[in-house]
Amino acid sequence: MSGAARRSRTNAPHVNADRLWSRHMDLARIGVVETTGNCRLALSDEDAAARELFAVWCRDAGLTLRSDRAGNMFALRPGRDPGRAVVAAGSHLDTQPHGGRFDGVSGVLAALEAVEALNDAGIETEAPLAVINWTNEEGVRFAPGLLGSAWFAGRIADETLDNIVSADGARFADEAARSGWSGDMVPADLTLDSFFELHIEQGPVLEDAGAQVGVVTSVQGLCWLDVAITGRDAHAGTTPLDARKDALLAAGAILVALRRTGLAAGPEARVSVGRLTAATDAPSTIAGHVDLVIDIRHPDGEVLARLGRECAEACRAVAADYGCEAEVSERFAIAPQQFDGDCVALVEDAALALELKYLTMPSGALHDAANVAGLAPTAMIFVPCRDGISHNVQEYAAPEDLAAGADVLLHAMLERAGIARRPDGQG
Ligand SMILES: [Zn+2]
Repeated sequence: MSGAARRSRTNAPHVNADRLWSRHMDLARIGVVETTGNCRLALSDEDAAARELFAVWCRDAGLTLRSDRAGNMFALRPGRDPGRAVVAAGSHLDTQPHGGRFDGVSGVLAALEAVEALNDAGIETEAPLAVINWTNEEGVRFAPGLLGSAWFAGRIADETLDNIVSADGARFADEAARSGWSGDMVPADLTLDSFFELHIEQGPVLEDAGAQVGVVTSVQGLCWLDVAITGRDAHAGTTPLDARKDALLAAGAILVALRRTGLAAGPEARVSVGRLTAATDAPSTIAGHVDLVIDIRHPDGEVLARLGRECAEACRAVAADYGCEAEVSERFAIAPQQFDGDCVALVEDAALALELKYLTMPSGALHDAANVAGLAPTAMIFVPCRDGISHNVQEYAAPEDLAAGADVLLHAMLERAGIARRPDGQG
């Protein structure tokens, strides 16, 4: 490790911070909302324009572009040894409807910048490299999210993918074709050696610690519970308070109980309700039916499962206290994903070699890397974002932090791919 670190410290190339930043700003001109925000939903006209600009940069960098059934884009740089598996990096170019300029974009541009830095330094790698743009990470226009990487990882069948219908009534396969990026590449065409994803943290931990880089060890698990609370519709004027089966009141008490359950499970637990619907939604009707969705997250799979059971139990018990009944069903669960120890170590070594202050941390959000981790050794690099704000037009990451993260990415990829030739004859 110290050998690798010393080599990086003395001899390795660096990314071009200005180019990396100006490309962020160039992409941010496509699909502008509220001055500093972006709306580029997957396979929309705006997404297609962003893809085209990215493709121009890739071709100018000498990369060969391919795409697959899911519209995932692969920009390939050959290695000296074409028989070696590909060292890849990337993220996503699609955004939330009121998204920022960095979520996803930074990971794609940092991967491209790593390749550009190698071009500038005249370095050929032993293994081929790939820069990847995964389709529909956000899951806003097509559900579920992480769609492109999930299909690539074999988690979604071809026909299922093709026939997913968007919120605006369009078929996925038609939109992928319309974007110009429905290609003939299949996952078996790309043997991955490893995958690295740089992403803004989307939380406040790095900034609070004054760290420039997050070495991401895992992606926490996630479970959604659908809760249907049934009481009895009643007249708000004629029904005494003690004679009601008020499903909305029960839901209110359930929210408080869920928070208590989450807090009791320790600081890493997340229990949230962001969607609650009262069937009647009328001021003078006591709601007889309420639906809500609980979003539960934890880095430990066993704790996550236990927390799911405790939340379900809390819903049933509290509903009964209010004369109602709660039916709880699991909509889906995603197990926590541990990243590859060797790849994580390469990211950490790179941060050390570059003398950057870093933290080792799990990811609170889901990322494409969690899908790719099922295929190949994978790790992630976090970059701080101001006030931890993301999925917001105010989202901001500093140019120097983006460059530091991209340098870490470059070093990790280079260690993995191996240097075949550099202009000074070393390597
Ligand atoms: Zn993202």
